[in-house]
Amino acid sequence: MIDTPLNEFALIKRYFTRPRKKAFLGVGDDCALLHVPPTQTLAITSDMLVQGRHFFPHTDAKRLGHKALAVNLSDLAAMGAQPTAFTLALALPTAHAAWLADFSDGLFALADQYDCELIGGDTTRAPLITLSITALGYVPAHAALRRDGAQNGDDIWVSGELGDARLALAHIRNEWPHQAPLTRNELAQIYQRLEQPYPRIALGLALANLTTLARQAHHADPSSPPSQITHACAAIDISDGLIGDLTHILERSACGATVNIDALPHSIALAKQPQDIQRRCTLTGGDDYELCFTASSTVRHTIEKLSTSLALPLSRIGKIDAQPGLRLVDQKEQPVIFSQSSFDHFSDTP
Ligand code: ADP
Ligand code: MG
Repeated sequence: MIDTPLNEFALIKRYFTRPRKKAFLGVGDDCALLHVPPTQTLAITSDMLVQGRHFFPHTDAKRLGHKALAVNLSDLAAMGAQPTAFTLALALPTAHAAWLADFSDGLFALADQYDCELIGGDTTRAPLITLSITALGYVPAHAALRRDGAQNGDDIWVSGELGDARLALAHIRNEWPHQAPLTRNELAQIYQRLEQPYPRIALGLALANLTTLARQAHHADPSSPPSQITHACAAIDISDGLIGDLTHILERSACGATVNIDALPHSIALAKQPQDIQRRCTLTGGDDYELCFTASSTVRHTIEKLSTSLALPLSRIGKIDAQPGLRLVDQKEQPVIFSQSSFDHFSDTP
């Protein structure tokens, strides 16, 4: 393909305008128009990817298109929302056809998987590639997986495996000289975790459904014990590292937690690494986009069955308690001191 520069409107038409499916009005007017079904509320989230900050300049454009949407869908998953539509604000130094074709391929491949429609956006020139997506989803108001929903005694769970994305970043940067060598397959796997994360939408929807079922059970039998009827899950997607993200739940829910660091799920590639790297990656590595969620121990068995039906590992890593703060322990319940904090764009450490 000839990699010729394009003008703004040709670019939007060629790469970002597709036949309208769900929106009442899509790309091409001053605003898009959407119907909101009567029983639902809109969940709205924005996430930006900036060249040099969130991705390397040579990153594969197709994977970048995927990731720009995936990080937003991950926020919808963490709220228990069903993705419906998104907008794309795109800033580019140059409009190259080959790059745009690959980027939009990656973007729409993921969008189509969730029937999530691009309904508008903005396109401008800027010195660095900047991708800002706003994603919209539907969730019944009472079923949303809010950060303030954790309760004393709840189990804490995480999906999938933690730390591979951080390990890949360290590998690219040659950051840790004592990092153990990995096979070609293991490297491909950790790079994929960094560059092409998969939002845990099905899990988020299932957890929101659990909340709905618990409410319905309460309406059917108001005498049932409160532990079974007040059940609601709190959830967050792990974008900045488990410690920091779980702390957001604890602060919003005004409670504390004890986490068994030996129960943190990780890949074979990460298990090959020295213990300090394993801990750093699982506790403070971001970018995995797994869900960390809390749930009453009365639904433990339901969650174990959910893991089977979704073919997604769900690991019970600790418990919510009343004492504020996050305590880390090992398998033998001995306290573990860990001083690294999670990622913060405005802290001094990179
Ligand atoms: P306005 O000047 O009214 O903001 P624009 O000229 O910026 O509109 O955009 C024209 C149309 O193209 C709008 O409907 C807008 O939502 C859409 N659009 C612009 N950039 C993108 C993009 N990157 N992806 C999808 N739609 C876009
Ligand atoms: Mg306008």
